[in-house]
Amino acid sequence: MLADRAGLPRFPYHPDPLATGSVVAAEVVCACCRQRRPFTYVGPVYAVEELARVLCPWCIANGQAASMFDAQFTDADWRVPEDVPADVTEVVLRRTPGFDGWQQEQWLHHCGDAAEFHGCVGAGELAAFPEAVEHLRSDLTGHGWPADQVEWYLQALSKDGQPTAYLFRCRHCGTHLAYSDST
Ligand SMILES: [Zn+2]
Ligand SMILES: [Zn+2]
Repeated sequence: MLADRAGLPRFPYHPDPLATGSVVAAEVVCACCRQRRPFTYVGPVYAVEELARVLCPWCIANGQAASMFDAQFTDADWRVPEDVPADVTEVVLRRTPGFDGWQQEQWLHHCGDAAEFHGCVGAGELAAFPEAVEHLRSDLTGHGWPADQVEWYLQALSKDGQPTAYLFRCRHCGTHLAYSDST
């Protein structure tokens, strides 16, 4: 398995789970592989068993945790575009670290594929990604928000607090996308 600089497995849809906070550099004896590992997955686990902070990222990447516990790391409750193959959704839900959303998490898609998750962002971070701001703006406007309220909300977005936005990047064209819990 390919590994990045931190020695973590490579997650095509969540390239830096240390940066997003879904994986932390804390030792764990993994409930799946039973090995002592230097990194712990701290994101959500959807399974019958209580599995908070007991899994290593390797067992997520190779699918062992998903099959042993019939677990998902993201709750599937969004509309996947028709051009996205089912095995992509399988990887997103069962072999990719999830993240804690304030409400129901979503996974954004672009170019017929799931996008990479890049973590929570606020107005300051979003300034570098005008296309993501435009995506949020059209989302909010589409929900019937008046323009001044949309602009106020976009300025109020915070990386560490609420409201926040979740940033994604297309793996094919590089476009940045974002959504926020408010909608
Ligand atoms: Zn493990
Ligand atoms: Zn794209």
